[in-house]
Amino acid sequence: MSISSVSIFVKASLLLLIYIPSLVFASSLQNGDAEKINRYANLTHAVLYEWNYPSELSNEDILQQLKQSKLQSDKSDISVVFRHVIALSNAQQVDAPKVPVVIKEVLLDRHWQALKRADIKTYAFLKAYHIYIKGFNDFKGSVKRLSSTVPALYSLKNDLLRSGNKVAIITVSMWIASELIDTAPIQAINEIEFALPHLPIEPSGNKLVMEINLVDAHNDLADLYLNLNVPTKSAEHAKKFISLKRQYRSLETTDFLFAISTLNRLGKFDEALELIEEARDSAPVDDHFESVFLDMFEMSVYGSRLREGDKAKLTELSTRVLNSSVLFPNESADIKPTANAIYNAVNGNDEEFNYSILQLEEAFEKKYSSTPLKNKAVLNRYLILKHIYNIRGDIENAFSYQEKYQLALLNSHGEKFQSASGIKLDLLSKDIELAEYRQKELLSLQQEKVGLTGDKANLRTAVFALIAVICLMITSWLWLAKKQSDKQANTDSLTGALTRRAMLRQLKALLKRHPSSCLALLDIDHFKRINDKYGHAVGDEVLSTFSDIIRQRIRKSDLVCRYGGEEFLIYFEHSTEQEVTAILDELNNSFSSKTNWSTTNKAFTVSFSSGVVALNGTTNSESVIKLCDDLLYKAKNRGRSRVESTTLAHSY
Ligand code: GH3
Ligand code: MG
Ligand code: MG
Repeated sequence: MSISSVSIFVKASLLLLIYIPSLVFASSLQNGDAEKINRYANLTHAVLYEWNYPSELSNEDILQQLKQSKLQSDKSDISVVFRHVIALSNAQQVDAPKVPVVIKEVLLDRHWQALKRADIKTYAFLKAYHIYIKGFNDFKGSVKRLSSTVPALYSLKNDLLRSGNKVAIITVSMWIASELIDTAPIQAINEIEFALPHLPIEPSGNKLVMEINLVDAHNDLADLYLNLNVPTKSAEHAKKFISLKRQYRSLETTDFLFAISTLNRLGKFDEALELIEEARDSAPVDDHFESVFLDMFEMSVYGSRLREGDKAKLTELSTRVLNSSVLFPNESADIKPTANAIYNAVNGNDEEFNYSILQLEEAFEKKYSSTPLKNKAVLNRYLILKHIYNIRGDIENAFSYQEKYQLALLNSHGEKFQSASGIKLDLLSKDIELAEYRQKELLSLQQEKVGLTGDKANLRTAVFALIAVICLMITSWLWLAKKQSDKQANTDSLTGALTRRAMLRQLKALLKRHPSSCLALLDIDHFKRINDKYGHAVGDEVLSTFSDIIRQRIRKSDLVCRYGGEEFLIYFEHSTEQEVTAILDELNNSFSSKTNWSTTNKAFTVSFSSGVVALNGTTNSESVIKLCDDLLYKAKNRGRSRVESTTLAHSY
């Protein structure tokens, strides 16, 4: 039963507005600045996570906190950052009340730097949040913002890498992950796993800093792996999350969500039921919402297991949910229609059952119009319907929804790939590993079908065959992504030439295989002057033009790499000193005949100098490149825009 998936959706919506119980405030703070930053940070936390949201803090409480913080009248650089962040966080809320913070000054880098010097962890959190919320506002909530937020977050991370403060660095990693969670889940996983070993369990400091912690990270990973349909991994993190949360905080009903879902998918029903028991023990007795939640969990287990007696349990539980007096928020408006459809799947006649399905579909439609997580909602709908038809005993329809689910999953992965490929796909080494997990799980699922008979068994086989095909398709998709990311890692982004590392790696084998090859080192003449006179952008254009001209002229079997700033190394397979010198002269002619550039309306020409070595059996690329460099130096000294060359003796 996929009620668990409904609840994933609920949880995902909740995650957007994480509610953190007010934990202990940081211990004695002596420094005035530190005290002030923590005061503002806690206020900001309240605004970001609890303003206009039914929680422990009401809007009045937050207004009171704002007044007491004296943020508005503060003239310091640091206060400018906080005022801006608070105002921006509210900018999108049209109908709801806004936090009355007045901004009088422009937010400048010097304000950020002041905060960075005073408290780098808070700086990292706020700067990342600022990037996110600005993108969110500018792009009106569309995922298109990722093309601006993700690169900005990566460059913030790079900047912080130099600071050496681990918590600050992984704070940004966690923000990158949260931006990528839907469009590039694998990259999101990589970011979180990168952060994992350094994440504090119980961070100390203000509430913003405490948002970045190991406990929640395990829960995020459980969610991500579940969405990628890797329940074993998901279960691993869900269990860690529960045990840490039990040990260091206190467990809430929603904390069991991913663990129960994954155990269900793995067919570990008894373990799932045990967890639900534990959840019942830790839930507040008089909270009806929690108990409905748990009833839905429990139905998800019986609905998947369908052993003898389970249908009676389903009747009992669905009745209880239908009779509860809980008022559900919008995102959970499909809970009662789901319970109703389950009730009728077990007890109704055809008319009653079909009508309850219609009502459920209507509830789904309503939900679509209000959810920012449409993809997830569509997937859940198919899963829920599959399970309800399964409970009904209508295997044909169950199968058809299974098919729809798998196709939608594939499509959403395809979309994800497309929107992610524009971002940055250089961390996909985990992909293949993931695909392997899937295959393993497939095997264990297949074993489940033993024990079924007749048509039912045939249908099951068909379902599993379908899963196998889908797995293959996903695997090949992952390979594609991997190939593209390898290519990206090996080529220089400005010039499209190979990176130095990629070239040196290949050179070793090539020199052995082709003894009569040449290496040439090229360096643009007076390049610094171009930068100084016309600007860096023009310098960049000269570089990429130079690289284009080289790549158009050389053969497929030759290689060119960007060896340094404006230096290029070319490998000419099976060529003599004379041939290569002629090619380089030709290249210099085409390069220096270009006078017009697109980044400036000034006309100018550029040349290059080079040093060429014909190898004659030498395989030590290092010493050959050194010799090229000496010759290049000579070319520069002899007036530039020329080639100096030599052919090595056999004994070199
Ligand atoms: P020479 O003729 O002796 O080679 O003079 P030069 O000015 O070319 O020599 P130098 O090596 O001193 O200058 C190279 C310059 O290239 C310095 C550096 O700022 C610039 N540079 C390096 N990488 C890039 C880049 O990616 N883009 C731009 N625009 N400039 C770069
Ligand atoms: Mg140089
Ligand atoms: Mg130069």
